[in-house]
Amino acid sequence: MKHDVIVIGGGSAGYAAARVAAAAGAGVAIVDRGPLGGLCILRGCMPSKAILRSAEVAALMRRAGEFGLHPVEVGADLGAIISRKERLIREFAEYRIGQLRAPEFTLYEEQARFLSPREVRVGDQVLQANSFIIATGSLPRHIPFPGLDEAGYLTSDQALELRRQPDSLLVLGGGSVAVEFAQFFNRIGTRVILVQRHHHILSWTDEDLARPVEEQFREESMEVFTGTQIHRFAHQGDLKTVHFSHAGQEKSASAELILQALGRRPCIDGLGLEQAGVRVEHGRIVVDARMCTSQPHIFAVGDVNGLHEIVHIAIQQGVVAGHNAARPEEETRQVDERLDAQVVFTDPQVASVGLSEKACQAEDIPYLVASYPFADHGKAMCLGEIHGLVKLLCRPDTGELIGAHITGPEAAELIHELIAVMYFRGTVRDLLRMPHYHPTLAEIATYPAEELAGQLERRV
Ligand SMILES: Cc1cc2nc3c(=O)[nH]c(=O)nc-3n(C[C@H](O)[C@H](O)[C@H](O)COP(=O)(O)OP(=O)(O)OC[C@H]3O[C@@H](n4cnc5c(N)ncnc54)[C@H](O)[C@@H]3O)c2cc1C
Repeated sequence: MKHDVIVIGGGSAGYAAARVAAAAGAGVAIVDRGPLGGLCILRGCMPSKAILRSAEVAALMRRAGEFGLHPVEVGADLGAIISRKERLIREFAEYRIGQLRAPEFTLYEEQARFLSPREVRVGDQVLQANSFIIATGSLPRHIPFPGLDEAGYLTSDQALELRRQPDSLLVLGGGSVAVEFAQFFNRIGTRVILVQRHHHILSWTDEDLARPVEEQFREESMEVFTGTQIHRFAHQGDLKTVHFSHAGQEKSASAELILQALGRRPCIDGLGLEQAGVRVEHGRIVVDARMCTSQPHIFAVGDVNGLHEIVHIAIQQGVVAGHNAARPEEETRQVDERLDAQVVFTDPQVASVGLSEKACQAEDIPYLVASYPFADHGKAMCLGEIHGLVKLLCRPDTGELIGAHITGPEAAELIHELIAVMYFRGTVRDLLRMPHYHPTLAEIATYPAEELAGQLERRV
């Protein structure tokens, strides 16, 4: 059987690629070994955000007295939280499965394996295509710390299925998944200890954006150890223990369960990439800005290329590859990384678009920077949400916004105004001229913009 385009993997990236390739007139097959739905819906973004909402509500309820309300006793029922999540996920997954089974695609619910650059084995059939798009996602990374496998641990996959709440939880890692789960369990009443190697959590961002989250965690009685070196794990009875160095001392911490959230790796096992002649480096498929692999007719999008593990970027990559695979005769499209954005759904949230100070310094990119704290912002004070800041970076010559970062209330929503300004290559002066309703959280962005406009004026 021959198709124009075969997409391997029907998650966010694969579905986007298939949709665009079919719309461009190609005969498209999707191969997915299941369960159908993709990581975002089944075990990623949506389930994690569903359970985080319960923790958010619990945290607000505990603050009743602060707002002149009678204090309430807050208890969590993890089983009920997970059931709510499952109801929502079932609905989202059914919708996605309906999309995958649409008549414009041929869906094979099988494992795919390349036999050669132009053939894949799918169940007991061999399929051929003019182009292939690999979108097989990622898996939790295995880290061989001494004693960790013997002690036993959960990944985010299993943490999303837990119905009995642990008394205590050791969270390994300080990335988005680690910190979101750490705050969730801590807020529903589990004693949480977070152990992170980098000297601050969320190591990809600037330190001043991560610290308010750490402060909030500590205010909520979470134990947070940053700048650690883990040596080994041990287990005895119901307790699992990590031994590590921290601030020049040997320390240990014990808990009932361990959540290993030390990252994911591209899912390329058993894909037959050698037979396909697709180059893999450090466990990830190498792609260029067209999402093209070392084989000009094979593309790789989403988590499997290891560039980002973020859904809207996976979709953008899928859209680009879908076009390039279906219309090889047309000018190829490329992914534009200028507007790469990332959000962490802790409280306070962290949201970023474009360049950080860290990135500018590493790449020698000139910039001006200004920031403004939520603690000084009237609307944030009314809401009682004063942790965090807004930080803007602009070009020193034109004032074009090149990076925007928010740690604070509703950062995930607020960042979109700044993405829009950057999309249109707006300047900090544009941001100042745009009307902002008062009193809103959004108007906070005008304060660092004003400071940057002043800095620009003083430079001429
Ligand atoms: C706990 C958690 C929370 C997250 N939260 C967010 C968030 O809030 N926002 C955000 O942007 N991102 C978030 N992410 C990341 C996001 O979920 C992923 O970046 C995204 O879902 C990856 O999509 P994908 O299409 O690349 O892969 P997937 O959705 O994993 O799709 C891969 C598909 O390929 C199939 N497959 C694999 N191998 C084969 C094979 N050999 N043959 C056939 N089929 C195969 C699988 O069955 C699967 O359906 C989160 C991730 C986790 C783990």
